[in-house]
Amino acid sequence: MNEHISDFTDDYPKFTPAMKKTHTVLVPAMLPIHFRLFKHVLGRRGYRVEPLENEGRQVIDEGLKHVHNDACFPALCVIGQYLDALKSGKYDPDRTAVLITQSGGGCRASNYVPLIRKALKAEFPQVPVLSFNFSGLEKGSGVEMSLGLIRSSAFAILYGDLAMTCYYRVKPYERDEGAADACLESCLARLCAAFDAGKEGAFRSLCRSTLKAFSAVPVREEEKLKVGVVGEIYVKYSPLGNAHLADFLLSEGCEPVFPPLCDFVLYCIVNNLNDAKFYGKRGKSTLLYRVAYRYFYGKQRALNRMIRRAGGAPLHDFEDLRALADRVIHQGVKMGEGWLIPAEMAAFAETGTENIVCAQPFGCLPNHIVGKGAIRVLKEHYPNVNIVPVDFDPSASKVNQENRIKLMLGAARSSSQILFRQGQNKIS
Ligand code: SF4
Repeated sequence: MNEHISDFTDDYPKFTPAMKKTHTVLVPAMLPIHFRLFKHVLGRRGYRVEPLENEGRQVIDEGLKHVHNDACFPALCVIGQYLDALKSGKYDPDRTAVLITQSGGGCRASNYVPLIRKALKAEFPQVPVLSFNFSGLEKGSGVEMSLGLIRSSAFAILYGDLAMTCYYRVKPYERDEGAADACLESCLARLCAAFDAGKEGAFRSLCRSTLKAFSAVPVREEEKLKVGVVGEIYVKYSPLGNAHLADFLLSEGCEPVFPPLCDFVLYCIVNNLNDAKFYGKRGKSTLLYRVAYRYFYGKQRALNRMIRRAGGAPLHDFEDLRALADRVIHQGVKMGEGWLIPAEMAAFAETGTENIVCAQPFGCLPNHIVGKGAIRVLKEHYPNVNIVPVDFDPSASKVNQENRIKLMLGAARSSSQILFRQGQNKIS
């Protein structure tokens, strides 16, 4: 495969700084709330970013046409979405680029760029691929990194996490249909305006206004089954990748619970520190990762303090997650989402979300091992936990996926796991 990749790596178009003025940058659908904020983070730095929303069978078919069928499902979705968008006639291919995030980990996600270039070369060879990463990858065609951009991105992640968490805590209970969506829109408008004005650093006031807005949404006093969602990062969050799992859970009368993106970011940072600790891989960057960890973890704790003060249940504390991981798996297991998946399942079990969907993409060996493979050990620690691994792949039927989840919900409901919390603030 590497020989094959080297055939086309030398003659691809690069994204030059001048293209900021001329090109629209397409971003694949993954985290609808967070990516609305990222659009403004990059927009203030001159990039014209457009998060994609195209969906449907034709997107998957485009992916299947351009990606080898042993590639993992997220690659297929992302590439299919780019190709489908470029063929839609909505974008001028001579003035369009595509953006992909790279975590810098050892898994295939860090190597999607050559796959994307190969797929584009077949039909849109002029379209450059722009990489968004903090690891120094793709130096010739990456988003220009700066401390300011890293700081703004950290705020976008935290605000996105807060808005996403509040939204799913309120949406299942809203008294007036659409009230949670309207609240989300107004919060996002305020946050986007702060990014446009360079005032995203007003952390306390922006978090408090989001908490206050969601606390004011009128809710029904009823209890719903909470269902945690863990898994590979793309299929966990992307409605295209997980067949609109959140909407399905809402339609089934459940409260979907998504772990925050900041956990994944902290996981990526900590893996670099663990590389030094476990494998002796020290470098200049080790110190930078330590500083980044302190800063970002400090912000997560500050956010949790504000959520607590507003009467809500905090996000999982990342140091607690690490301690929970240690009960189940070694922190040196870091391919894909590695130890984070069992840690998030354990954290759900500890905080009363005992029904969990573990979203697994087809072709994803690492996450099948740490997801499905960790269930037996988790059940030894948490006998009541009810985990259903669900595979997402191009040929999987939505009905089969939904039936598996319905079986889990049926078992949960019949064992009366719903505990009523009458009168509680719903952001809790
Ligand atoms: S974690 Fe899984 S889905 Fe993600 S890049 Fe690796 S193999 Fe692919």
